[in-house]
Formats: sequence, C-alpha cells, structure tokens
Amino acid sequence: MLKAGILIFTDLDATLLDSDTYSFDAAGPALAKIREYGIPLIIASSKTRAEIEPMTELRSLSKVFIVENGSAIFLDRDFSPPPGIQAELKSGYRVVVLGRRYSEIVHALHSARSLWSLCNITVKGFFDMTAEEIAALTGLKPGSAARAKEREFSEPFIFKGSLSDLRSLREALEEKGITVSEGGRLFHAQGNADKGAAARLVMETYRYAYPEISWKSVALGDGPNDEEMLKFADIAVIIRKPDGSLLDYAPSPLQRVISSAAAGPAGWNEAILRIIREECTG
Ligand SMILES: [Mg+2]
Repeated sequence: MLKAGILIFTDLDATLLDSDTYSFDAAGPALAKIREYGIPLIIASSKTRAEIEPMTELRSLSKVFIVENGSAIFLDRDFSPPPGIQAELKSGYRVVVLGRRYSEIVHALHSARSLWSLCNITVKGFFDMTAEEIAALTGLKPGSAARAKEREFSEPFIFKGSLSDLRSLREALEEKGITVSEGGRLFHAQGNADKGAAARLVMETYRYAYPEISWKSVALGDGPNDEEMLKFADIAVIIRKPDGSLLDYAPSPLQRVISSAAAGPAGWNEAILRIIREECTG
C-alpha cells in the first residue's frame, strides 16, 4: 500500500515572510511540526538564488527551491529530476531552467525601451539601478538589495507611462518570448515560466524519487504570481494581505481552498497547523 505524504510549496514575501519585517517567526509552531514530521517545504519565490541561499533554516526542510517566479529549480546534487528532464550541474546544484537567461531579458527590455527614448516614459530595471536605489524602492536592507541584484532569469522594473504604452511594451517583449507580470511594487519580465509549472516538475521529481509515497500537494500564496501554483495544488491556501484583503482566486475543480484568517506568517502558521492536524491524524 502507498504511504501518504504531503509536499508544501510556499511563496515567501507577504506569505511566509512578514511584509514589513521579512521575519517568519510567527510561523514557528507550524515549521516545527513540518520538521518533526519530515514534510518537504519547497520555497517558490520571485527572489533570486542569492537571496534564498542564506535562508538556511527554511532551505534545510527540503532538497529543492524554486527561484525567480518559477524560472528555475535548484536541486541538491544528490536529488535528480525524472529521466528526460535536462538539468545542468552548477555551483553544487542540479539546475532545471524553465525560463530565459538574464542577459536575454535585459537586452530585450533595453531594446524595447529604446523605441520610446524621446517620450515621457520610464522603464528602469534592477540592472540599471544601484543596490542603494533598489533598497530605497523595495525597503530591503542594502545587503539584501545587493543579493536581489544578482539575477539569473528575470528582471523586475519600474514603469511610468500610460496603459497603452504598457500594452505596447508587453507586445514588444512577447514577440521575443518574454512575459510581463505585475508584482506588488514592480513589474517583472521573464521567460514563459511560472511557479505552477515549476511546482509540477518538483512534484514529478518527488514521485520519481519516492514511488512508495502517494503525495498530496499544498500551496500557499498571497499574490497574482502565485495563482498558477495555487491552481496546481490539492489544497490551495490563500494568505490574507496585511490590509485584510484576499487574492481574488478561482479554484481548480476538486481542489480544497483555505483562506487564512490572519495575514502573512501568522496566517501561514494557522493554515499549516490545521492541515497537518487533519492530514496526519486522519
Ligand atoms: Mg507574495
């Protein structure tokens, strides 16, 4: 008989990390349970590898993490994706790239921007900013801002212009296979990758590595860039935003949806403790 197992996929900003302090302390009790039961916790963030690597406590809860909005999956060297999935060995990881290289994205943004060089429009990415400017824009500490600048697959940028200018920018980038999504404060340009496709591949990897386990997936997120990942999961947890609102989410057929009562990591804690209590005690 198959044993039952849970895989947890989580967004970081305003989901597991507090939107102001970037702390996950309020999720402590749920994280302790996850560790106790050996439940894999997979980070799926818009953050870069350089930003996620120092999070050793969270990273120690699985052998894999997803960076830059699903653009790439970093697996421990001793953890292989299923046959047929290309993975490159890099800096001690196996890396599955689902998006596009950073140089291609920056080049596409710059050439699109040059179309409007005389007009009253601003397209400015992290590539064109100093770490200090990024810190001022995002509220990150200077060291964290420097790590946010170490990009491999996607480019956050500010855009100032009309809606029709934005549409033109999107079209110019889409012609080159690059999509634009809206984050909280910033727009993001990246290849045609998302957190949902990355989570699906991680799930296949666990099924391949542990065929004796029947895996159930849980995904937690608060924003539009989490939607594909939430849709993929058996249980979708919508984390309340600090202003009390919730992502307007259309569930997948048959999936269970939980909305947290509390915001950020406190809501994360509450939802995960409930799921573990229900799933692990029958
Ligand atoms: Mg978020």
